Amino acid sequence: MIELDGSHGEGGGQVLRTALTLSALTGTPFRITKIRANRAKPGLMRQHLVAVKAVAAVCAAEHTPVEVGTQTLEFHPDRIRGSEYHFDIGTAGSASLVLQTLLPVLLRADQPSRVTVRGGTHNPLAPPMHYLERVFGRILSQMGVDVEFELLRFGFYPRGGGEVAAQIAPCAHLRALDLATRGPAQNAYAEAFVAGLPMEIARRELDVVCDAFQLSEANCRLCGLPSDQGPGNVLLLTIDYMHVTELFSAIGERGLRAEDLAARVVAEARAHEASGAVAGEHLADQLLIPFALAGGGSFSMSHLSQHTLTNAEVVQRFLPVTVVFTRQDGRTLCTLEPGMAR
Ligand code: ATP
Repeated sequence: MIELDGSHGEGGGQVLRTALTLSALTGTPFRITKIRANRAKPGLMRQHLVAVKAVAAVCAAEHTPVEVGTQTLEFHPDRIRGSEYHFDIGTAGSASLVLQTLLPVLLRADQPSRVTVRGGTHNPLAPPMHYLERVFGRILSQMGVDVEFELLRFGFYPRGGGEVAAQIAPCAHLRALDLATRGPAQNAYAEAFVAGLPMEIARRELDVVCDAFQLSEANCRLCGLPSDQGPGNVLLLTIDYMHVTELFSAIGERGLRAEDLAARVVAEARAHEASGAVAGEHLADQLLIPFALAGGGSFSMSHLSQHTLTNAEVVQRFLPVTVVFTRQDGRTLCTLEPGMAR
């Protein structure tokens, strides 16, 4: 039984999600206290509650009772079963994060799975569904994983109601990768999506990003969505490098000018360009689970966040890997090596 203190380090939802994934994969039970203790509303929110129930359904786990606000959980996994699964968060909580929690588990299932999750698909502080597909998904496929993501319907805060799906084939061994360089940028494109809001918003956002990165007209895409998927707006800038893809995004908010939202995306992308790193801040914390499952590998990152450090600690509690961060040429290099589970 692994004991976790949910207030440790970052103290957010990732500690729980990583524990759920790795508990199911390793067959190791865990007990977590002080779930999301460092957040304004501690304990399980709907997204985390559904993540617990979803992983439990996939690996026939037994666990202590859970509801919104629960701060302590004991979780006993059993056998992972591939199947067709449907989960509904019931709010705009991030469907991408629930899907990302389940994905590694289903790689070790006895047969292929299809999972659909209803909820938010483009939320602040969570990977937009396009990010899972283009950025995270590209690296998984380099590791030998066969997964197809589908965005069935957009869901924005506060309404939610979006739907995402993934088709996941079992994969017994993930290929370890050493991603020291990202290679040159080969393509860049911006997309501004709007649902139930004036198209003018998207046009103004694209003007800023496309001008800053000198994108051709074909690479500046104005995307109108059916108004019943809104109200909502998201701006995405995707850069395909030779070895990896990065995606920079911002979600429209009431009171935030289109130009200011676009300026955030430009600033984030410029900082990443200048860093020369393989992984941006978000990809860095998300790569730890697949790299640990592969038993090793390395990648450079632009910024070592508290989130990444905390995630690395949880990963090392469950799996026999050692995660080392070293500074090199103004970047951080993350190296995973076989070791002992702590
Ligand atoms: P809380 O912090 O409220 O507990 P949570 O459970 O929703 O929230 P975190 O634990 O903060 O979330 O984890 C959020 C995850 O979303 C991290 O893996 C982070 O890298 C990722 N993420 C956040 N913003 C982006 C973004 N713009 N693009 C890609 N990934 C993102």
